[in-house]
Amino acid sequence: MSAAARSPGPLRITRIEAAPLFGESPKGGWSAEIRPEDSIHALIAVHTDGGLTGYGSVFTDGRLVEAGLGVLRPLFLGENALEPERVSEKLHQNTFWMGRGGTLTHVVSGVDIALWDIFGKATGLSVSRLIGGRYRERVQPYCSLLMEEPAAMRDVVAAYRARGFTAFKIGWGPFGRAMDARLDEAIVRAAREAAGPSAKLFVDAGASDAYWPHGLKWAIRAADMLADYDVGWFEEALKPDALEDFKALRARSPVPIAGGEVLTRRQAFIPWLTQGAFDIVQPDVTKVGGLSEQRRIAWMAYDFGVRYVGHGWNTALGVAADLQLAAALPDCDLVEFIGGSAYVDGILEQAFTLDAEGWLRIPDAPGLGVSLDFDKLRRYTHAADRLRA
Ligand SMILES: [Mg+2]
Repeated sequence: MSAAARSPGPLRITRIEAAPLFGESPKGGWSAEIRPEDSIHALIAVHTDGGLTGYGSVFTDGRLVEAGLGVLRPLFLGENALEPERVSEKLHQNTFWMGRGGTLTHVVSGVDIALWDIFGKATGLSVSRLIGGRYRERVQPYCSLLMEEPAAMRDVVAAYRARGFTAFKIGWGPFGRAMDARLDEAIVRAAREAAGPSAKLFVDAGASDAYWPHGLKWAIRAADMLADYDVGWFEEALKPDALEDFKALRARSPVPIAGGEVLTRRQAFIPWLTQGAFDIVQPDVTKVGGLSEQRRIAWMAYDFGVRYVGHGWNTALGVAADLQLAAALPDCDLVEFIGGSAYVDGILEQAFTLDAEGWLRIPDAPGLGVSLDFDKLRRYTHAADRLRA
């Protein structure tokens, strides 16, 4: 047999570890604001008997991730780490009665991302090549910023524009919450003026927050206002389960309608895509089931003529996964990039940097193409050493 025809492995999974992140979660603008002692993100390491380790990220409380790994352990121990889609599907199919779509789906997301990272490291290929090939070598990041009162909003958008960003999203915070349509408009006007007329600007109402106070009529009025400021999409303008109202809003709104960040499992997206609820769908690779699931959702969206933009901004590994997907889809032209998060900017050996046009180069090194810096990581978790190969 020639060397080219030889398949690597198997590489057996020996253990999977989680490292909850603490202390530096950026403000969420949530009704119950995130505190330093709260963990809402965790990193995952999948260790194998061949010495290769892969890394992933989960958007949920790290204690839930640790508990979820305990439940999943009999299913993943000894599995072949070079078969990410099959192993992840095994975990989904055998947990239908325990947190299907919830914690266990979130945990499988991080495991799946780590398995793709291992598959890439074992084969010497980037994940984007393994999942079908690279349509692009770089992509435009949009800088996600929390809504502020108008003067502060102007300052913060200007600061990130000065750092080189050319696309922005503002969301959550007082927008819609202050019950003051003039304040909402003043915030958006301040952001548009600070971003400049040629920048992309998106608005996120954040209606998946607790007890969102508005409905369809508010969303229609807000969408009309946003059109005056050339806003590129209106995100989570309605409560996240209001399928019929999303369809009505999309039909009526002059600006594109975006959503889907709280949905998990590919199957949950079927009604939203088949019934035309979104112009843009935004699954979160660290919640939805990982790269295996996100890739299929993105392609389903593509076939329905719906744009896909990932929501994996929460850690540098989430961004790394989104970048690989952005390379491997025909029409993905943006990735979300949160402004000022230590979990994105402060845990890699080489942090992401913008090029002269404010775009990100998509790594083409094996796997996710990024390396954790364990000394930096130690500032945010007690469990950094558990992740080490
Ligand atoms: Mg959002």
